[in-house]
Amino acid sequence: MPNWGGGGDKCPRCQKTVYPAEKLLACSAAWHKGCFKCKTCNGLLTLSNYKDFSQDVYCKGCYQDKLHPHERNRKQLENKFSKQPGGAASGAPAEEE
Ligand SMILES: [Zn+2]
Ligand SMILES: [Zn+2]
Repeated sequence: MPNWGGGGDKCPRCQKTVYPAEKLLACSAAWHKGCFKCKTCNGLLTLSNYKDFSQDVYCKGCYQDKLHPHERNRKQLENKFSKQPGGAASGAPAEEE
């Protein structure tokens, strides 16, 4: 019985076989390094900064949105109503790295 897929682990993102050289183990699955991205914003993740949520991986920011979606809505509303010309917005998300 031929096994055209190669019989290795399948990447959850692209459904293709993951070879050991490009394999990342996370979320009880094997990922291509290049496919190990936040499902929401597509930002590349590493094993030290990803968050797993319902069998998928997210960056820290998007993971927070998943956990507290209402908080995000509230922030967007606040931004809408606090548009002040020339005012430096406080509480802006800190850039990482
Ligand atoms: Zn992949
Ligand atoms: Zn993200």
